Amino acid sequence: MENETKTVVPNFIRTIIDEDLKSGKHEHIITRFPPEPNGYLHIGHAKSICLNFGLARDYQGQCHLRFDDTNPVKEDVEYVDSIMEDVRWLGWDWKEHLYYASDYFDQLYAYAELLITEGKAFVCDLSFDELREYRGTLTEPGKNSPYRDRSIAENLDLFRRMKAGEFPDGSKSLRAKIDMASPNLNMRDPVFYRIKKTDHHRTGDTWQIYPMYDYTHCISDALEMITHSLCTLEFEDHRPLYDWFLDQLPVPSHPRQIEFARLNLSHTVMSKRLLLEMVKEGYVKGWDDPRMPTIAGLRRRGFTPESIREFADRIGVAKASSMVDYGLLEFCLREDLNTRALRRMAVLEPLKLTICNYPEGQVEELDAENNPEDSSAGNRKIKFSKHLYIEREDFMEEPVKGWFRLALGKEVRLKHAYYIRCQELIKAEDGTITEILCTYDPESRGGWSEDGRKVKGTLHWVCAENAVPIQVRLYDHLFSIPDLSDIPEGKSHLDYINPESLTINDHALGESSLAEVAPGERFQFLRLGYFAVDPDTTKDKIVFNRISALRDSWAKKQKS
Ligand code: ATP
Ligand code: MG
Repeated sequence: MENETKTVVPNFIRTIIDEDLKSGKHEHIITRFPPEPNGYLHIGHAKSICLNFGLARDYQGQCHLRFDDTNPVKEDVEYVDSIMEDVRWLGWDWKEHLYYASDYFDQLYAYAELLITEGKAFVCDLSFDELREYRGTLTEPGKNSPYRDRSIAENLDLFRRMKAGEFPDGSKSLRAKIDMASPNLNMRDPVFYRIKKTDHHRTGDTWQIYPMYDYTHCISDALEMITHSLCTLEFEDHRPLYDWFLDQLPVPSHPRQIEFARLNLSHTVMSKRLLLEMVKEGYVKGWDDPRMPTIAGLRRRGFTPESIREFADRIGVAKASSMVDYGLLEFCLREDLNTRALRRMAVLEPLKLTICNYPEGQVEELDAENNPEDSSAGNRKIKFSKHLYIEREDFMEEPVKGWFRLALGKEVRLKHAYYIRCQELIKAEDGTITEILCTYDPESRGGWSEDGRKVKGTLHWVCAENAVPIQVRLYDHLFSIPDLSDIPEGKSHLDYINPESLTINDHALGESSLAEVAPGERFQFLRLGYFAVDPDTTKDKIVFNRISALRDSWAKKQKS
């Protein structure tokens, strides 16, 4: 993957990097992916990961993985582990460049004392609510804190006592002394240290105070000599503060922050808070539920790392936010698997079909190609007998105009097998068809007639003698509307959960070769889509997830 050659699509970030390399500002570039370990990564993070690691690859630079672990309350090692697994699975390698913001706590503390000593920071006793009140609004300036003019000595003493754990949570904070009248709210004497008597997943009970994101992030970037610090647009207003801290401090470098639009994907939510709620409240089975937009969910569903990287390349980076249709993700998956997934046959809604002129008890083996797109994939043997199953929806009792599949008196091809003609139906008392009686043409072995007679329909099927029962999990969107950011007042995203996002089919049948599959394997089931073996699979129960239908089922549904 590191050597993957691709045509590089220019974008505004590459333009900046090209200029910086040309002008000699940098000799090589260093980017970073800085997740906060407070949840599992989602497809939006994949965009950022592929952007940062992709730039490092293309420019022969390096990309750091840095955990932005400054909030002990919400963070956990489970998340740290899952993030590393996901980045690796996506195909990226941070090599020796694994960092934790918490490793910089000592340095961050020393810098904070320096800011105090230089009169650029003060300890404030305003409560959380008072801070908000003093902050002002977008249209009104804020008010100076009554504690703003404490002496340097007093600030230093109080800050050290905060560190020593002398004060309760929320009773004091350390603030930068900037400008309460700034039109940018982030510059109105922002808090950058708070008291939190909570153990940290890496530093344990060493700290009673924790640095805030805006302070930690820029300094971490600077300490790691990051050249281009790429983040999403909501940090644009934070950039002046990013630059302010770095301008005040004797840091070894001053990275350039560049913002790009975050990925919004249709029919899903992406904030970790909302995803956590989906997990905790049981709307899904876990972070890796195949309906989730998490990397773990997409992986379990059967998406390939290649398809996600391709998706990230296709959406590109821009300054303007946009909504990307989930269908694009499926398109990338189909493009990828079309050339390399082995073809198999399975029937989701089995309808019994008997070949009346085929000898009872006879079973023959037919050749079936594994992948028409790839002759090196070879052939497999599939068994054929008098008793078969076809897909119920491939038969129509009163065929509509243009119906090429099976109907009374009609002839179709059974894929890789024979021409068959429907002669008779057997029905249950309630009128449902329980069996179809056909004849076959022994001269059409392999699915081609000697006399050149053509049939239009080709059906997939399985042999009743040796088909294997499989469980098939069919997925639809998690939410029933595309844009979850635009919900009417009084409603929440939970009101739009799609009750049909998961359909479990326990009566599906697969061809005999599917008896021996391992979790993670992917196939194309002819005419049904791409499927992956779920980790729930056991010796006695084979479980498949449908990754995607063969065509965009969503678009089709919306048209009809
Ligand atoms: P969320 O808002 O989903 O909770 P976050 O931004 O708080 O995510 P972080 O762990 O801080 O999550 O994100 C790590 C990096 O991933 C950041 O640089 C962030 O800008 C980027 N990122 C997060 N969401 C998206 C997205 N939807 N599209 C592109 N990049 C994203
Ligand atoms: Mg964040």
